[in-house]
Amino acid sequence: MSTAVELLDQGHEVDLYDSRTFIGGKVGSFVDKHGNHIEMGLHVFFGCYSNLFRLMKKVGADNNLLVKEHTHTFVNKGGIVGELDFRFPVGAPLHGIQAFLRTNQLKVYDKARNAVALALSPVVRALLDPDGALQQVRDLDDVSFTDWFMSRGGTRESITRMWDPVAYALGFIDCDNISARCMLTIFTLFATKTEASLLRMLKGSPDVYLSGPIKKYITDRGGRFHLRWGCREVLYDKSPDGETYVKGFLISKVSFSST
Ligand SMILES: Cc1cc2nc3c(=O)[nH]c(=O)nc-3n(C[C@H](O)[C@H](O)[C@H](O)COP(=O)(O)OP(=O)(O)OC[C@H]3O[C@@H](n4cnc5c(N)ncnc54)[C@H](O)[C@@H]3O)c2cc1C
Repeated sequence: MSTAVELLDQGHEVDLYDSRTFIGGKVGSFVDKHGNHIEMGLHVFFGCYSNLFRLMKKVGADNNLLVKEHTHTFVNKGGIVGELDFRFPVGAPLHGIQAFLRTNQLKVYDKARNAVALALSPVVRALLDPDGALQQVRDLDDVSFTDWFMSRGGTRESITRMWDPVAYALGFIDCDNISARCMLTIFTLFATKTEASLLRMLKGSPDVYLSGPIKKYITDRGGRFHLRWGCREVLYDKSPDGETYVKGFLISKVSFSST
């Protein structure tokens, strides 16, 4: 849909096909026959999502985000609450360093080992050399975050009490299974940009507050949605110089027929 917005702005004609009955993919939602909004669980928008904010502004949805206080809450067994509190008069990276040093979510020993692991990570390099750090992070795609973190001195307790909850909150899988690249990419942004770890939450369901306004922008400019139409095949060819290019899509109406 964001591509459709850009193409329409450039004067192209746009048709969008989706095999589902509602628009927006994972950012979509619909109302069921009992009046409940059914959605995928997408609520969290970090301060570093500048492209999304630009798109929301363009479609008039920029006031649909509620800014959360700059602190992250861990609700532990028994209702014991831990905090990773980024509120600090000075910005990145000091606000993050003090948050990790002061957090009550980890014991002093785990905190110290955590600090060593983070100090030895590309996150620190990112403060001086962001491009070099991101390249280093990309090379960590074939190692799990747990293996990477523990090889740098981090503890299993930190994984269980802090990093697994952080991964789940980001909509990721657990640290034993997710690559170090995913986790360290977002931490690098957190360490270098004060706003990056500041969350915004959508005011309500996406079809009202996010995909809906984008849809309106698209249809107001002549874009067309075709729901329950699926792409069956991507048609491609080779140009005389050997380049493969897409020449079309085979689209058909979705049917539940088994034949
Ligand atoms: C539980 C969860 C929580 C998340 N939370 C957040 C969050 O808080 N913040 C955030 O920024 N990101 C979040 N994400 C990630 C974000 O939702 C995705 O990165 C983003 O929506 C991907 O957009 P997309 O358009 O590439 O794909 P999708 O949103 O997956 O859209 C693909 C669309 O293509 C359609 N389709 C598939 N195959 C065909 C076919 N053959 N023919 C026709 N149509 C087809 C599908 O029906 C779907 O509508 C979350 C993801 C999940 C699963």
